Amino acid sequence: MNNNKKNFNAYFLVILGLMFLAAWMFRGLTGQETDYTRGELVENLEAGDVIEAVIQPNKETPTGVVRVFLKSGQERTLYATDIKEMEAELRAYGLDPQVRDIPRENWFMTSIFPILLVLVVGVFFFVMMNAQNSGGGGGNAKMMNFGKSRARLTLDNKVTLKDVAGLQEEKEELEEIINFLKEPGKFTRVGARIPKGVLLEGAPGTGKTLLAKAIAGEASVPFFSISGSDFVEMFVGVGASRVRDLFADAKKHSPCIVFIDEIDAVARRRGTGMGGGHDEREQTLNQLLVEMDGFGANEGIIVLAATNRVDILDPAILRPGRFDRKITVSAPDVRGRREILGVHSKNKPLAEDVNLEQIAQTTAGFTGADLENLMNEAAINAAMDNRAFVKQEDIKKSFIKVGIGTEKKSRIISDKEKKITAYHEAGHAILFHVLPDVGPVYTVSIIPTGLGAAGYTMPLPEKDEMFMTRGRMLQDIMVSLGGRIAEEIIFDDITTGASSDIKKATKVARRMVTRYGMSDHIGVINYDDDDDEVFIGRDLAHAKSHSELISGEIDKEVKEIIGDCYAKAKAIIAEHEDILHKCAGLLLEKEKITREEFEGLFVTKNEEPEDFFKKS
Ligand code: ADP
Ligand code: MG
Ligand code: ZN
Repeated sequence: MNNNKKNFNAYFLVILGLMFLAAWMFRGLTGQETDYTRGELVENLEAGDVIEAVIQPNKETPTGVVRVFLKSGQERTLYATDIKEMEAELRAYGLDPQVRDIPRENWFMTSIFPILLVLVVGVFFFVMMNAQNSGGGGGNAKMMNFGKSRARLTLDNKVTLKDVAGLQEEKEELEEIINFLKEPGKFTRVGARIPKGVLLEGAPGTGKTLLAKAIAGEASVPFFSISGSDFVEMFVGVGASRVRDLFADAKKHSPCIVFIDEIDAVARRRGTGMGGGHDEREQTLNQLLVEMDGFGANEGIIVLAATNRVDILDPAILRPGRFDRKITVSAPDVRGRREILGVHSKNKPLAEDVNLEQIAQTTAGFTGADLENLMNEAAINAAMDNRAFVKQEDIKKSFIKVGIGTEKKSRIISDKEKKITAYHEAGHAILFHVLPDVGPVYTVSIIPTGLGAAGYTMPLPEKDEMFMTRGRMLQDIMVSLGGRIAEEIIFDDITTGASSDIKKATKVARRMVTRYGMSDHIGVINYDDDDDEVFIGRDLAHAKSHSELISGEIDKEVKEIIGDCYAKAKAIIAEHEDILHKCAGLLLEKEKITREEFEGLFVTKNEEPEDFFKKS
């Protein structure tokens, strides 16, 4: 609070300073011009150009101002050091100068007007900023609260976990947080440390905001919500002061949840210097980190943040004691979609021909928001038709509308595409499982990621290993090629979907040759001067450190490695073709399968010495 005032005073001083500067400048502009010299006056008098002259003497000194009106219509002003002498001279030329008092300077124009002007501009800015900020925060018309947090405080939150369909794993992970907020004492008694910050990460519309609200509702604690972009202002220091204010407020309401939506707006990687440094944002981020470090682990404030761009976040916010818990909120699978459709058709009377199962099946890649939109459009269709209930037909119609509207994000996927993806991912998964140094598989999914991938196969998070072995790298290459190989075996044709896999495999192979000295013919020499890949096109700019001959050798080696891996991987997949079919079948049914479900496929197949490859 105190700091807030200080900050505000600083702005006030700056504006005051600006006013004086402006006033001073205006004085200069409106003051008389004094470029008329005595010599010129004499010239004009001699030429008979002067029609009239007015003398305005000063009271205390013999000085004064002489206004001279010329034949040409001009008016000139001369500052005279001796008015009496001047008068005599003018009379000598036959003029009869009038003598008047000096008129009061136009004080309105020279001093009041500029101040008014600056005031008006200032007020305009205040209003502008306020309008801009209260946009989401509910008609906040107070004028001078720059540094106040813009957070919306919700005390009686009605959203609970029941309103969040699907997202089973995500909900489970958040359970302990809800428990903590409900009964902080239970945890503090035994000295348990509860995470201060939880980062919800996932594509837009997957329900991150909804989930955050539901946690607060479920625990019935106050919910402060603010968007990352609300912190970012044109004045340095405002964001930081808002963060301070937000946390001061939160402490008063603890236990509570502080939710920062779209945190990437403030927590972008610092110091990248892209498009010029942004001091304001850095200060804001620093303040956020300071605040998060500042309150005790069990003070009862849990900071939730949401983003769909973890990749651009400053790593500092992910450190222990900050957002040390990361929860990925993914697009729903068939079952999740069925549940979400259920939630959003609750208050929509459905005709008996509506088949939500079938809708769920055909909406692979739709997020919760897409499905909500779909049902809403269907209801609109029904209303347009003057019906009080929604028919399957309405949903189908809106399907096209929604599907086209969100074309890029969540394309409707054809059955053929789905099938290819299922086999592709199954190919990766089998190799992960069978090869000894990679895997085990954690999830296999054919739900489009929204980032362009049709599906993914995810191993358990990697252990920190000091070295990669040659064997491990070869197996990585094999796994990468697995998708393409499965397509080839099953469809006798291949798709473009494997391009990033191929790129990855090639990169690993090239590194083995040029960086790690792992090839047969090239030897233990580093031909890789591309240490960090900060600059795209660096290869082009830098002269290669080796000859064309070596380049050719390298390419040959890389090709050999990839070819070798391809053959080996293909043999393994061919050997497990039955599992490939089963895995793809299961994927088509469930869209996302867990480690247990996947490994189950191997167990039922045989009790043979598969143990050799078994992983812990
Ligand atoms: P995000 O914050 O991830 O972009 P939102 O939480 O704002 O997504 O979701 C937008 C809307 O989509 C929600 O208000 C809700 O109506 C719907 N929605 C998204 N996910 C779900 C879900 N799991 N269950 C029910 N509705 C959902
Ligand atoms: Mg959101
Ligand atoms: Zn792949």
